Amino acid sequence: MAKILVFCETQNDQLKKGSVELLCAATKSQGEITALFLGPQGKAAAPLAGQFGATSSLVCDDEKLSSYNPELFCAAASQAIRDSGAEIVLASTSMLARDLFPRVAAKLDCGLASDCTQLEISGNAVKARRPLYSGKCSAEVEFINSPVKFVLMRPNQLPVSDPQSGKSAEVKLFSLPPADTKTTVENVVQGAVGKIDLTEADVIVSGGRGMKGPEHFKMLEDLAATIGGTVGASRAVADAGWVPHSMQVGQTGKTVAPSLYIAAGISGAIQHLAGMSGSKVIVAINKDPEAPIFQRSTYGVVGDLFEVVPKLTEEFKNILK
Ligand SMILES: Cc1cc2nc3c(=O)[nH]c(=O)nc-3n(C[C@H](O)[C@H](O)[C@H](O)COP(=O)(O)OP(=O)(O)OC[C@H]3O[C@@H](n4cnc5c(N)ncnc54)[C@H](O)[C@@H]3O)c2cc1C
Repeated sequence: MAKILVFCETQNDQLKKGSVELLCAATKSQGEITALFLGPQGKAAAPLAGQFGATSSLVCDDEKLSSYNPELFCAAASQAIRDSGAEIVLASTSMLARDLFPRVAAKLDCGLASDCTQLEISGNAVKARRPLYSGKCSAEVEFINSPVKFVLMRPNQLPVSDPQSGKSAEVKLFSLPPADTKTTVENVVQGAVGKIDLTEADVIVSGGRGMKGPEHFKMLEDLAATIGGTVGASRAVADAGWVPHSMQVGQTGKTVAPSLYIAAGISGAIQHLAGMSGSKVIVAINKDPEAPIFQRSTYGVVGDLFEVVPKLTEEFKNILK
């Protein structure tokens, strides 16, 4: 039975969906599961990991971890891996995990597969699949001679089981080990607040340069609010300062894989496709029938988004009322 450590992230004292997916995948593999929570913000959700198969939750609730410092987080995560004897470490491909786990894997001299879309655990053997070259091909990754196998999975790729209510993980606190820190975090500036994290969203409505200006994004927010989604954007729009960079989807932005991705006024440059082509259903709205986005879309609407988007919103409102 493999010892699996699942790095859990939380929002409003609840486990993020990506973390739940990993706990469920680990449970399916019949491993011995420990959940890992770093920072005081994770403490409240730690027992909840038991509802998805974790027997215990390791928590370092040191105040110094209340905002992300790579060196401190690396020291704490490495300590937890040693303490738990983990052979497999799973984390969701969040911005934090993408920065943290390559450091931890390097520190422990182990292998890491990042941005994976498929995962297979059999005993303590792990196979993962990851897209390459902006999704043009994919590689199957296996680990050789790696005492700990690190896998970072894209959210929304793995099935989730119902929580087993009444079950709770045993919470074990551990202290932040001493770390030779060379940096301190002076200030954290909050990005878009109160919205569903793009990487976890099941429905995304994204706007590109075809939106003509920031004032028109309200139209996308209305559509997203009607169908329970969140708003994203192309880099052209983020670079123009119409929306914050935290909303950018693509190679240098966020990688998303929602059930539904609506692209309005986005041409479909390869760097944008790299971040959203894993979406299950893609709907493109573009007035140019030759726009490359149509080659990757499940449904394409050739038309003026200023007519199409409000009509779509109205139709959804009628259907969902
Ligand atoms: C190293 C590098 C990294 C990059 N990373 C990213 C990234 O992470 N994410 C990203 O998005 N881009 C990225 N880019 C930029 C990328 O190459 C494109 O420039 C960008 O995606 C274009 O954004 P867009 O589709 O919004 O704009 P455009 O390419 O200008 O497309 C606008 C589209 O809107 C349509 N349109 C205009 N008016 C209307 C209307 N009224 N109704 C309907 N449709 C309309 C047009 O037909 C057009 O297809 C990167 C580029 C480089 C070099």
